[in-house]
Amino acid sequence: MGKSVAIYERESVERLGGSALEAFGGMFFVDSPEQRRMRIADSPERAFNDWKAFAEFDKGALWPQMWAKHLVERSTPDGHDWLKQFGIRWLPVVMWVERGQRIQGNTVPRFHLTWGTGQFLIAQLIKSMRSHASAGRLSLRCGHRVDRFDMHAGKIVSCSGVIEGVEDFRGSAEAVVVAAGGIGGNLEQVREHWSPVEGIELPETLLLGTHPGADGRAVRASEAVGAQVSHVGRMWNYAAGIRHPRPSWPGHGVSLIPPKSALWIDAHGKRMMPPMVSGFDTFDLVQRVCTSPLGFTWQILNRRIALTELAASGADWNPALRERRIVRFLLDMLVGNRWLVDDLTSNCPDMVIAGTVEELAAKMRALTPDARIESEALAHELERFDATAGSPESDEQRQLIERLRRYRADKIRLAKPQRILDPKGGPLIAICEHIVTRKSLGGIVTDLRSRALNSADQPVPGLYAIGESAGFGGGGSHGQRALEGTFLLASVITARRAAEAIAKG
Ligand SMILES: Cc1cc2nc3c(=O)[nH]c(=O)nc-3n(C[C@H](O)[C@H](O)[C@H](O)COP(=O)(O)OP(=O)(O)OC[C@H]3O[C@@H](n4cnc5c(N)ncnc54)[C@H](O)[C@@H]3O)c2cc1C
Repeated sequence: MGKSVAIYERESVERLGGSALEAFGGMFFVDSPEQRRMRIADSPERAFNDWKAFAEFDKGALWPQMWAKHLVERSTPDGHDWLKQFGIRWLPVVMWVERGQRIQGNTVPRFHLTWGTGQFLIAQLIKSMRSHASAGRLSLRCGHRVDRFDMHAGKIVSCSGVIEGVEDFRGSAEAVVVAAGGIGGNLEQVREHWSPVEGIELPETLLLGTHPGADGRAVRASEAVGAQVSHVGRMWNYAAGIRHPRPSWPGHGVSLIPPKSALWIDAHGKRMMPPMVSGFDTFDLVQRVCTSPLGFTWQILNRRIALTELAASGADWNPALRERRIVRFLLDMLVGNRWLVDDLTSNCPDMVIAGTVEELAAKMRALTPDARIESEALAHELERFDATAGSPESDEQRQLIERLRRYRADKIRLAKPQRILDPKGGPLIAICEHIVTRKSLGGIVTDLRSRALNSADQPVPGLYAIGESAGFGGGGSHGQRALEGTFLLASVITARRAAEAIAKG
């Protein structure tokens, strides 16, 4: 658009791309070509109704709701179609996540998996940025951590901070865009800001599912120059976090997509009732884990179920998708993720395997000595659940699974109804799961041009905010719950609105 741009990034050039480098790449689009090909009838009106219902917006949350509407309306033209010109494509089968349970969620499938994950998506955008005709006007300054925004005569004129932790720098510009992510990489920040919904506190152990650079520093710096910040205490965390077998930072957690046919029990071995099944309401699962004894849970399954259902979110854990290897991808889908099950059962400290319930219970007790896992009680819970394997109607978990099975994209990732204690399905696997942090739902309040607003809802001259720093638009466009795949989408669209507004002047 004829402007000169300087990007200040605290990480090295190899880490350029932020969370998208690790992202699974699921994207929320409405009335997309993929949906139309599958004859999924969707519309912005329907999607906004679902979004609003699921979000349970606070009264008076004006900008978050305006952004939610905008994101839904523009998802396909400004997200899908725009990204397509960079060679980005999505799998032809649209996934159906966050269907809602107590609260209505996605009433139709909208989760489009990027062929190549978030890593390919961001690589394509970076490639295009570097090879752009105006690339000469782009200056990329990695290793620069921004600590402050500087104001002159009522306008933001520069940002300043430190290079590689030693030397100071200052960069001046006619507009400054905050694109620094959220607070999900910093446990102190997460705990400090936590604003419990229904009084529910965070458990003692939390895993970190986001890079530590997401520490909220730039958001606080924006607040210091008058930007309004809202809903920072709201996070989109996940219920089934395990310690990363090869951590990149202390407390690094992997978010499992919780196996649906597993028996989900609390820290002391009692089944979580009503049963917990993923795919309906992540927020509800997280709330229930937080209020369960000791604040963590277990999932018990056997290897045969794990081969079909065990999965983890993120580019790291989906190499066939990430590397765009179609044959390997289809094989993983059809015959199971053998390498993933082997890697996690051999290398993740939160997974134990055993041939018998007694041995499994002993290993579970050794891993979490505070928990009271009795092998007899555990065997009893497993036998009771197993007894319903032939009659799905007799158990709520099996009923929910049957609902999922009616959609073909879900069916393929569901194990056939079976007994966990069936010796042919063994060995048994127990997974100790903690809450893992991920996205910040709140941030800098922005208008539809991504301009940062002050407490009087007036633009802070020269300051813009996008992506997670802006709570994905308006300081919290998801309200309390996300329909999923909306984070990458909102990062793209909020950025595009900022660029257009700056170009117009
Ligand atoms: C494992 C994983 C899986 C995910 N899967 C999905 C998915 O399937 N679908 C989806 O929609 N979303 C997903 N997400 C979320 C999504 O990737 C992020 O919400 C989105 O990428 C946020 O982009 P952002 O640019 O706002 O922030 P970030 O990606 O966090 O980027 C912020 C950048 O700013 C830099 N920075 C921070 N502070 C400073 C400072 N003070 N000075 C200079 N630089 C700074 C950081 O180093 C970073 O590079 C996933 C995230 C993770 C971690």
